Amino acid sequence: MRFAAAVLCGGSGTRFGADKLSIELGNKPVWRHSFDTLSSICEEVFVVGPGELRGSAPGCEGGSSRTESVRNAVEYSRDRCDALIVHDGARPVLHIEDARSVLAAIERSGAAALCASVTDTIRNRRTGEVVDRDQLVAMQTPQGATIARWLEAYSNLAVSTTDDYALLAANGQSVEFVPAGHPNPKLTHPGDLSLIRAILGKVDSRTGFGYDVHRFASDDRPLYLGGIEFSGERGLDGHSDADVLLHAITDAVLGAAALGDIGQHFPPSDPQWKGRRSTHFLAEAVRMARLAGWELVHLDATLVAEQPKIGPKSKAMLAAIAEAAGIEVSRVSVKATTNEGMGALGRSEGIAAFATATLSR
Ligand code: MG
Repeated sequence: MRFAAAVLCGGSGTRFGADKLSIELGNKPVWRHSFDTLSSICEEVFVVGPGELRGSAPGCEGGSSRTESVRNAVEYSRDRCDALIVHDGARPVLHIEDARSVLAAIERSGAAALCASVTDTIRNRRTGEVVDRDQLVAMQTPQGATIARWLEAYSNLAVSTTDDYALLAANGQSVEFVPAGHPNPKLTHPGDLSLIRAILGKVDSRTGFGYDVHRFASDDRPLYLGGIEFSGERGLDGHSDADVLLHAITDAVLGAAALGDIGQHFPPSDPQWKGRRSTHFLAEAVRMARLAGWELVHLDATLVAEQPKIGPKSKAMLAAIAEAAGIEVSRVSVKATTNEGMGALGRSEGIAAFATATLSR
């Protein structure tokens, strides 16, 4: 039997807040992992999804629903093979043995679906009663059937279904359950990435560096450092709130993700940033890094200033930085030193800040 495999990449990924399938996972995007796994056991592997995601990989456009996308996959492959399996592009760690088992089951039974036994205790949310988990299976992918079964399923299609099993079983035909022997999680929430990376054994880590300096202002504008207002202290000159510490940290985050610098994303020439609190810049930098698949692991910064004393406000600063960056306070460090009276900083003409940021994915 000649097998085709469709890697479904048509989802909008809204629960993830990013194009999760394009996130780089050990030198290739998420969807490419299972594509490559399936390529070694299927005669034809193709992508169902937007052209800009597919790149040079063969495939076809997705539809407005999963049912429509799978229909496109069936049309694409019907003359190229005897059977078609469909697989979620968001399940990158599919094990080749599990994929092989599904193919063997289709040869045997005409239709098959990979599934996992349920190991947690399951309760009915409304009644609190325990559901017999021996009766349950969690459906995964690949799921598939012979082309003849797919065509028959679509010719009788009454409703849109969320999984392919429902479609294949709708005509009263049996679908063989194939128990998964290996983890096969679906990338749904950002936290799933670390699990998937751990299974793949691929962790990428980078450190970025940032530096900024601002002179003291001649007017009576307030001083902001690390997202905190230091009332009664001389403010710094600048287009935004001139928070030199947050600017250095923001540049460190952007640098670690190789995403340019703060001046490029929030140029002083743009009136929308005038007087803007710099916590916004840090939060945006972390968001941009996250869209590229990076998680912020750690921030460290040093302020160079003869004044003011930051000790009394250091706890509040750490909390404000952690909140803007969306990480725990324990992952943020801020230190301060004077310049021993030397040079412009030593003459209290301004304040400088250095920072590093560590990202991983
Ligand atoms: Mg600045």
